[in-house]
Amino acid sequence: MSTNLSRRSFFGLAAAATAAAAVPILTEPQLALAQRRRVARDYAPGAVRIDANENPLGPCSGACAVMSSLLPEGGRYDFDLTQKLVDTFSAAEGLKSGYVLPYAGSSEPLHYAVLAFTSKERSYVTADPGYEAGMYAAKMSGANIVKVPLAKDYSHDVRAMIAADPNAGVFYICNPNNPTGTITSRSEIEYGLANKPKGSILLVDEAYIHFSDATPSIDLVKADKDLIVLRTFSKIYGMAGLRCGFAIGRPDLLAKIQTYGMNSMPILAVAAATSSLQVADLVPERRKINTDIRNATFSWLTANNYKFIPSQTNCFMLDAGRPGKEVIEAMIQKNVFIGRVWPVWPNYVRITVGTRSEMEKFQTAWKEVMDAPASASRPARRESPTLARLGARDLPWGMQRDEFLS
Ligand code: PLP
Repeated sequence: MSTNLSRRSFFGLAAAATAAAAVPILTEPQLALAQRRRVARDYAPGAVRIDANENPLGPCSGACAVMSSLLPEGGRYDFDLTQKLVDTFSAAEGLKSGYVLPYAGSSEPLHYAVLAFTSKERSYVTADPGYEAGMYAAKMSGANIVKVPLAKDYSHDVRAMIAADPNAGVFYICNPNNPTGTITSRSEIEYGLANKPKGSILLVDEAYIHFSDATPSIDLVKADKDLIVLRTFSKIYGMAGLRCGFAIGRPDLLAKIQTYGMNSMPILAVAAATSSLQVADLVPERRKINTDIRNATFSWLTANNYKFIPSQTNCFMLDAGRPGKEVIEAMIQKNVFIGRVWPVWPNYVRITVGTRSEMEKFQTAWKEVMDAPASASRPARRESPTLARLGARDLPWGMQRDEFLS
């Protein structure tokens, strides 16, 4: 591998890497697992899995073919493949060399960016409800965590976020937002960049951007602004289990996050991602599939008088009208695993848009649970005996039990 990617990634960082001892990386599957453990440790056969914002379509056919042919090469690291992926993405986006770092998913750079730019003195500002992973990273850096309610239209209230703390280090803007699937306008992101405290960054997480009409922020990176954009192949590309993503930013900003770790990439994921980027109609086709199924679900919810927040992505928030945690458990009894609750909206649950047939099963189960008296979804005891036996050892990534199950 000939470019600065290899030099920086594997040799220049050894000394700095001592700064980052153990960094637990928290992401959707752990959050879904933690919730599921209230009643069931594993998905039962035939379960409807709409709890972790996965894409049921999986990798596209070209990506599958490329991975099959590459399997025998699995004994090789093959850095050149990684460079090809970075070059392919950079060329497609018009990014100069050195502006893209590859990772095994975007969770790693999310955590590292928060660790690099927050501290006891520099807080982490996030939307509420918002994607939680960055808050766990901020806890590790000892940063104050400032949660700012979403605006009335469920966009990020960027003005309130900027005003929230003059000593902030990171303003995390998830665009579109997880869990609401709502977007934040370009002008608000520009306002954030123009008005944020010196030395801070906007961390713009575009995990779900391809599903939506949101304006991407990569051109702001090209203009050398103080932001890092995160992208992942876990969502529209259907590669969550394969692990591939990017941090996109000015080289001096990326250098700061690189000090926390830079491993070699899983070659099957890299090849699948490169192949997926070359399929011109993949994004529009999958976006349409998701939009059609989401709209059909919304029509059904509306026809049945259930309240939800209109979303532009593969997830949305649905009002259960009673404690969401109880409804999640009642749905699991029907073998439908729905997403979690955010403390700020205890009666709402997050629903991932699955296949048409999964959403039909979801609808049937939802109606049954909603038609039953609220007391019916209230479990006799809070935890199954299996769960009660679980020790800290069983929890993912050394997290505290209460932290997950609160
Ligand atoms: N950002 C957001 C908003 C997410 O919802 C997720 C996962 O669901 C991630 C980042 C991390 O995804 P991954 O590590 O699979 O790329």
